[in-house]
Amino acid sequence: MTKRKTIIAGNWKMFKTRKEATELASAVAAGIKGEKDLPEVVLIPPFTSIEAAIESVRGSSIAVGAQNMDWRDDGAFTGEVSPLMLLDLGVKYVLIGHSERRQFFGETNQTVNQRLKAALAHKLIPIVCVGETLDERESGLTDSVVRRQVAAALAEIEPAALDIIIVAYEPVWAIGTGKVCEADEADRVLGQIRATIADLYKEGGHSARAEQVPLLYGGSVKPANIEEQMAKPEIDGALVGGASLKAEEFLPLVKAAQKRVQGTAKTTKDSLSKV
Ligand code: PEP
Repeated sequence: MTKRKTIIAGNWKMFKTRKEATELASAVAAGIKGEKDLPEVVLIPPFTSIEAAIESVRGSSIAVGAQNMDWRDDGAFTGEVSPLMLLDLGVKYVLIGHSERRQFFGETNQTVNQRLKAALAHKLIPIVCVGETLDERESGLTDSVVRRQVAAALAEIEPAALDIIIVAYEPVWAIGTGKVCEADEADRVLGQIRATIADLYKEGGHSARAEQVPLLYGGSVKPANIEEQMAKPEIDGALVGGASLKAEEFLPLVKAAQKRVQGTAKTTKDSLSKV
């Protein structure tokens, strides 16, 4: 089986001043110091705290990401931040199409695709977010919505980019609500996403590249529910909001993902059946 990267990414949303970012990033770096078999740990502060976070994790394996970016290099686009500006700070990852951007800031499948192309062109690692609303889930539309979002995001994207892109399934109804998607269901939807990617790239014989794409689950991930998710075959990590804002909640998530890297992740059910 292909060994994919395991990733724990913390989306700090519109929280953390520079001072708070320095404290949190330093605490996370201290918490994983000397650890082996770590997942890729990505901290995603608001723009104004990116530099402080980067300074705080220097010398560690932690990477820093941005929550959004424009697809143009520069220009008269008041309030926007370009890929070049992120690279200049030392940013490695960028979230694209987070549901809060889609819900509140007019992000569309088309602009997701434009941002994805720009991220790839600038060698930023994109984490593309997809997920259905509660209404869509209750109307039985989960799979078709997610498939459409994935297909639109990947329009005109070269097969080789599948070695770089990360996709996060974040059901909108599970984000910041405390309602976590059952691990089996998250695993199933991520399986659909992988199958969709394979299907999109079957022309030219590139389906197998879908196996390389790390797939994350996001939506109310906490220390209490991560273990079960990390034991699922399609869940390669987590995109975490609320629980990434405190080192004492975020570090146990990194530890749970470390077990996946070590191949010892087990669901509660698995461990009970062995008793
Ligand atoms: C998120 O912001 O991407 C997220 C998943 O938030 P939360 O973990 O708070 O649901």
